[in-house]
Amino acid sequence: EKQKLKRLKSTAATTLDGTAVELHANIELPQDIPQVKASGATGIGLFRSEFLFLNRDDLPDEEEQFAAYRKVAQDMKGLPVTIRTLDLGADKQLRFADRSGDNPALGLRAIRLCLSEPQMFHTQLRAILRASHYGRIHLLIPMLCSLSELRQTLHLIGHAKQELATEGIPFDARIPVGGMIEIPAAALSVQTFAKHLDFLSIGTNDLIQYTLAIDRTDDTVAHLYDPLHPAVLQLIAMTIAAADKAGIPVSVCGEMAGDPSFTRLLLGFGLRQFSMHPAHVLTVKQQILKSDLPHITGVAQKILKAQEPEKLPQLLARLNA
Ligand code: PEP
Ligand code: MG
Repeated sequence: EKQKLKRLKSTAATTLDGTAVELHANIELPQDIPQVKASGATGIGLFRSEFLFLNRDDLPDEEEQFAAYRKVAQDMKGLPVTIRTLDLGADKQLRFADRSGDNPALGLRAIRLCLSEPQMFHTQLRAILRASHYGRIHLLIPMLCSLSELRQTLHLIGHAKQELATEGIPFDARIPVGGMIEIPAAALSVQTFAKHLDFLSIGTNDLIQYTLAIDRTDDTVAHLYDPLHPAVLQLIAMTIAAADKAGIPVSVCGEMAGDPSFTRLLLGFGLRQFSMHPAHVLTVKQQILKSDLPHITGVAQKILKAQEPEKLPQLLARLNA
């Protein structure tokens, strides 16, 4: 079975009816690239840059970050690489500056933390922009909640670009900037965000946590963590539809994207780009190769309308048959 999967490595991820799907990989560090290559992923959909900052006693400076981002861009040889700006906070605290409040998941994390530490953020933005000269880098902002956060962030990106231009340092002036949709408020106002962004990425791990009020790190409520909750499915489907309407790409980069039992559901909602741990790429590809979109889309719409959870298993079984 493993051998059979391996043979799919260089097969394009296309549905039975001929629709192309992009399968990208999630990474934490440049060392993960060999595994990405082995998986046959056609890009990196999520580079969790905060891992460069964890388990150490200082902050990586601009040169160190630049070297890491450039290495990933170069190793991927022109394939897209989406670097997410720092998603520190909550369960990922700096060793020397733990800022977890009483309720870390709702606290100063990700873009909130970056906007409150503009010097640290500026250093990262410069490093990412400099690396963008050496490959196809996309910049992704985590945990967007309000338009004002997005405006501030775009302003800071503009400022970093201007500075580099003045210094004569090369960068991709048209680097695409995307936002993660992982807070219900962002999903509900996704049309507004889509107007100001070049692409969207749905973080289902956090979207489920915040929609259902289930701490994703708390074992005592793990049994209530339900990706198929009708409210979660509505928010995912809405986000995909809004991106389509705005004419910008959208991917899912949470764990749902790497679970083959959700592949057809997401395809049926219109998703054409998935990003997952490299270990899941071939299994999801196998599922895509056996999928017929016209059939799937109808059942997925029924699932979206099914408000009674009892009906779900049967509909899902039909979808995945
Ligand atoms: C997510 O929330 O789904 C996601 C991909 O981000 P992280 O798991 O790093 O919070
Ligand atoms: Mg997240």
